[in-house]
Amino acid sequence: MPHHVFSIDVEDWYQGIEIPMDQWDGFENRVEASMDHLLDLMACYDVTATCFVLGKVAEEHPNLVKRIHAAGHEIATHGYSHTKIYNLTPECFRRELRHSIDLLQDLTGEPVLGHRAPYFTITEDSLWALDVLAEEGIRYDSSIHPVLNWRYGIPDADRIPSKVDTPNGRQLLEVPVSTYPLPKVNVPCGGGAYLRIYPYWLQRTLLRRLEAREEHVGLYVHPWEVDPEHPNLDLPFRVSATHYWNLDSTLPKLERLFQDFSFQPYRDVFSDELGALAA
Ligand SMILES: [Zn+2]
Repeated sequence: MPHHVFSIDVEDWYQGIEIPMDQWDGFENRVEASMDHLLDLMACYDVTATCFVLGKVAEEHPNLVKRIHAAGHEIATHGYSHTKIYNLTPECFRRELRHSIDLLQDLTGEPVLGHRAPYFTITEDSLWALDVLAEEGIRYDSSIHPVLNWRYGIPDADRIPSKVDTPNGRQLLEVPVSTYPLPKVNVPCGGGAYLRIYPYWLQRTLLRRLEAREEHVGLYVHPWEVDPEHPNLDLPFRVSATHYWNLDSTLPKLERLFQDFSFQPYRDVFSDELGALAA
């Protein structure tokens, strides 16, 4: 049976709704309390995860990063400013990536192996980012979502973890979150808003079907998804609909998932594949 991965994109509630970083100072910080809920739940069910930490969070909450790391979870990077990658120049992306890696490595004393882009924004327009990631020492990436979405997606990208040869001659492992393949489209079932939208039986059925195909499950959430009390801002409909939908349901669904499936970090589940990559 393949092992499954649980991951958390560690960002505060106002950082995941397209508010630029220069306006972040005015909002209430809730990421530590939300992460503590998740850390408690994972400890109860012996789940270890990969935590893709935003650089800005690491800068402002260094003890949170240390706490996550001390609990045995893998620390990976979610970039620095939560800007969509296709809106950054390669130079800006590299600078932000380097800064976020330095912050995290200084806190944990361990190399950062993994990266996930804000809003899964490695798309056809920003495939250059894979080169930059490999050059900066990243070994695996989880930013390409093989679905069609208004923010992201490469619908015909590989659904299962696969080695990528970058144009500059390096290699990294691309580990997408889970989708279930139908004849014409891939159905997203890797967490986030979809975990909140689907009834639990549907989420569980899709994951069991992936298991029957001998596939790894890759599931993710955000800390603000277990915090239904966070402020409700007046946002464009397509942003608010997915951000605020059914937040009450995340924790109970996660608890059931942790009872029904077992999860480990990317670092451990893919250690053989990562070891086989060219340097
Ligand atoms: Zn994010």
